[in-house]
Amino acid sequence: MGGRPYVLSEVTLSASRTTQYEVAILPWGATEPHNLHLPFGTDSLQAEAVANEAARLSWEAGARVIVLPTIPIGANAQQLGTPVTLNLDPSTQAQILADVAASLESHAIRKLLVLNGHGGNDFRQMIRELQPRTSIFLCASNWYTVADPGGFFDVPGDHAGELETSVVLHLAPDLVRPLSEAGPGRARVFSIGGLRDGTAWAPRDWKSVAADTGVGNPAAATAEKGRRYFLTVATKLSEFICELAAADLEDLYIEDPGAAS
Ligand SMILES: [Zn+2]
Repeated sequence: MGGRPYVLSEVTLSASRTTQYEVAILPWGATEPHNLHLPFGTDSLQAEAVANEAARLSWEAGARVIVLPTIPIGANAQQLGTPVTLNLDPSTQAQILADVAASLESHAIRKLLVLNGHGGNDFRQMIRELQPRTSIFLCASNWYTVADPGGFFDVPGDHAGELETSVVLHLAPDLVRPLSEAGPGRARVFSIGGLRDGTAWAPRDWKSVAADTGVGNPAAATAEKGRRYFLTVATKLSEFICELAAADLEDLYIEDPGAAS
């Protein structure tokens, strides 16, 4: 009996004393509405489930990996117009990340992967700032960009669309309202052309974008699509985690094998 050896909140002190973890995974989600049919915790539960499954596969392959407790609040300043969204400013997130990294440092865990589940979270600039100040190797991944969704979904969607709805139907079907209750997820776009074509970027004010908060129609979502995509993502991620666990941090660069000679 006992909890999963790669999920920190299920591990006991005795188990932790006999294991030197090589890689920690920090799932990071959000608390925000997801159209009318998915729960507020969608981004957190997805990131956590992907982390746990990728860690299970990695552990079974011999990598000593540990999933840290999920941070359930994301960068959501542009969603505060919709109830009952919660927000952590990026500067607050950076402080949390720094404190988690410092904690790991004192336990000689040398590698940290932030596994992000929310489009408004962006850990790259935080890592640029923090990396020179810590001995831990920091990296980040958005679970929903690990595998190309092209072969899995008709129109994946950005937020509470076919992709996310399918994955939650697979992971937690009891938390999904009937799809007949969902809005169409029709998003409005910026009136300024250059903000539509990528000339410039600005965050979107969510309440002006989508009446149901969704971006992408969930109508074609199924649990089977979600299962196939979820397993593909977890498998690919576990291959990365195993490689990261085995990597020598003093020797991280090689000649590009793809470069023309
Ligand atoms: Zn989401």
